[in-house]
Amino acid sequence: MTQRISHWMDGRKTPGISGRTSPVYNPATGQRSADVQLASAGEVDVAVAKAVVAAKDWRHASLSQRSGVLFAFRQLLHERTEQLAAIVTAEHGKVLSDAAGEIARGLENVEFAAGVPQLLKGGFSEQVSTGVDVYSIRQPLGVVAGITPFNFPVMVPLWMCAGAIACGNAFILKPSEKDPSASLFLAQMWKDAGLPDGVFTVVQGDKEAVGALLTHADVAAVSFVGSTPIARYIYETGTAQGKRVQALGGAKNHALVLPDADVEMAADAVVSAAYGSAGERCMALSVAVAVGEVADRLVDALAARLPKLKVGDGTHPDTDIGPLITAEHRDKVAGYIGAGAEQGATLVVDGRLGDLPSGGFFLGTTLMDHVTPEMTVYTDEIFGPVLCVVRADSYEQGLALINDNPYANGTAIFTRDGGAARAFQFDVEVGMVGINVPVPVPVAYYSFGGWKASLFGDSHMYGAEGMNFYTRGKVVTSRWPDPATSAVDLGFPRTR
Ligand code: NAD
Repeated sequence: MTQRISHWMDGRKTPGISGRTSPVYNPATGQRSADVQLASAGEVDVAVAKAVVAAKDWRHASLSQRSGVLFAFRQLLHERTEQLAAIVTAEHGKVLSDAAGEIARGLENVEFAAGVPQLLKGGFSEQVSTGVDVYSIRQPLGVVAGITPFNFPVMVPLWMCAGAIACGNAFILKPSEKDPSASLFLAQMWKDAGLPDGVFTVVQGDKEAVGALLTHADVAAVSFVGSTPIARYIYETGTAQGKRVQALGGAKNHALVLPDADVEMAADAVVSAAYGSAGERCMALSVAVAVGEVADRLVDALAARLPKLKVGDGTHPDTDIGPLITAEHRDKVAGYIGAGAEQGATLVVDGRLGDLPSGGFFLGTTLMDHVTPEMTVYTDEIFGPVLCVVRADSYEQGLALINDNPYANGTAIFTRDGGAARAFQFDVEVGMVGINVPVPVPVAYYSFGGWKASLFGDSHMYGAEGMNFYTRGKVVTSRWPDPATSAVDLGFPRTR
């Protein structure tokens, strides 16, 4: 019988009762490995009701208790990285080292959130009026939900839940139905770390579960990461319901390669960022803008690297690039390659050809030159191992191309000219910028988020902005008579 992937409520796996399921595949073999249960609106109601109860208790847990759970979770995540990476690779397809890398970046968010006693320190003003003090505190929202994409089944949930839980909320995760097993592994780890039952919940599901979370009166805030059309819908629906919403969308990230760049280093960086995780990263560099005479040299350097990349099963140690997430997605990406060629791009390397492993959802690396802004390979987010080279006459023309793009998640400039890099950082209209750094995902103590169609809402994810998102401020103005009571306690003061 096909394995059933369940929900997680009240600290245990909870079988679904809707009768609806969705198939889960091992993308490296093409085999269906399980069915994930899809929650009905009624099941979401049950999950939220349990989370409401848990949130009421959890907000009473002291900062040291909450921080202690985060530290314990961090330790478990270290110890179980290999097991978790294997789960990710089996359902997502990315190579094991990449899966371990995503876990390591998620772990940074846990480490940051473990500092919650420091992070939630408020302000205090003494004697604002005679005998009157004012102070500010930040309090949890209650029940918050996170809706996550398939491409980072561990890191993106950790972007959200580490901070949400540290701030004293109950967190409901609705993971992608394409690779849902990692969510249950995380749930078990939270339990083993000492998190009270009900504070972390997993509701498996599709748009029905999402719709129920978005309209539920007891869900105070929604964090979303996924494609732009769904991010827009989540933001509009959630905010219309009076919720706090941060919704991160899709991307089309450009590398701007100037003539003075170290072409070999730039090519290494661009190839790594374009084809890593088979291009299924929101921070993948999918467009290289080659300025002036660097174009031919860059294209040659890029093309020279591609035959060395091995496409295959992500569990094999010599594999560089795993399969795509589904057969449909692989075919869609292949369709873009065909359309690019028809619309006039030069196919320097065609990933549809060559020796690909059979069975799984594999596609080789594609490099297209002479791509122009009206081609669909340029206008659309492809989300596959396809790199487009656009040739620009000048820095200004390259910059204008980036700033005209509706997406604005990440970008990178490759140059040895500090002045050009400084000008780019100042002028580019993109949320995350790399200077000779191809994938500028901010470390956990900064915040992650793009601009324009890559983010709906005011708040970026994790870091200080995440802590603000998962709390609301309160300001207290107080006046006291002189204290009349006190007690002697010779024990060494400790947090309780
Ligand atoms: P997706 O938008 O299809 O799905 C994301 C989540 O939304 C999933 O949990 C899914 O179940 C749910 N969903 C899908 N369709 C829905 C609908 N009609 N109504 C309600 N909910 C729905 O995205 P994906 O394919 O899982 O992930 C890839 C996309 O995510 C890419 O566009 C990528 O750029 C983006 N992404 C963005 C970031 C970022 O930080 N900006 C990070 C990772 C991924």
